[in-house]
Amino acid sequence: MKFYILGSCSGTEPMSGRHHTSLALELDGSLYYLDAGENCGYSSYLLGLDQLATQGIFISHTHMDHTGGLPHLLWNLRKLCTLSPENQERMRGRRIPVYLPDLDVFEGVRKMLLGSEGNYETVFSLEPRLVEDGPLLEGPLRVEAFHNRHLGDPEPGQPWRSYSFRLEAQGKRILYSGDFRDLSELLPWLDGAELVFLETGHHRAYRLCEELVQSGAAFGQVVFYHHGVEILRDFSGELALARKVLGGRASFAEDRTYVEL
Ligand SMILES: [Zn+2]
Ligand SMILES: [Zn+2]
Repeated sequence: MKFYILGSCSGTEPMSGRHHTSLALELDGSLYYLDAGENCGYSSYLLGLDQLATQGIFISHTHMDHTGGLPHLLWNLRKLCTLSPENQERMRGRRIPVYLPDLDVFEGVRKMLLGSEGNYETVFSLEPRLVEDGPLLEGPLRVEAFHNRHLGDPEPGQPWRSYSFRLEAQGKRILYSGDFRDLSELLPWLDGAELVFLETGHHRAYRLCEELVQSGAAFGQVVFYHHGVEILRDFSGELALARKVLGGRASFAEDRTYVEL
């Protein structure tokens, strides 16, 4: 399986060579997206990924740096269907689940799509699904969501609004942090993860490395993404600090690269 970094940046102003957060997972001929920051559809298409193989989109929370590219990504699926009968046949009858913790946001996206060309008439359908604690997807890829405190504690009776994801495929475990407040929110899920994606928009990478070691958890490689200002100002210096703690197990995501597991 390959995780493509479509966007490695946190919610910054536009940055040369980087886009907001999005990953694509290519697994056994299927494609899945983790968050959908600006330009994710553009980047995945130009990387040669088979967008018509999209089987699911998972949004950790609805901040713009995680959703800004969602309308265009969905628009592009329809566009590709208009390019050839073969494309259309591949997509006919397909249901594409779009998981979000706030379905009102999906309604906004849907309205954008309906207001675009062709009234978004498609041979496939989009299925909005609510992200909640517990399994979201079963099958060759298992995805489980668990809430974090990036957006604080909800009012009584209100749902959590920010999630992390635990993935399992081919007997391997992957942890995708989403934006989070404190590493303690992730620790119960860390043990046994071969690959960990950790955001640095709200954290210093080397501090997270120290906390990971102190946790005593058994984990594999750690890819820092959703880069915050420290990394954007001094990529190699921050990486050197992180590697002092974790050695070669730590890496910093770069746009349009991939991690293979
Ligand atoms: Zn973010
Ligand atoms: Zn956020």
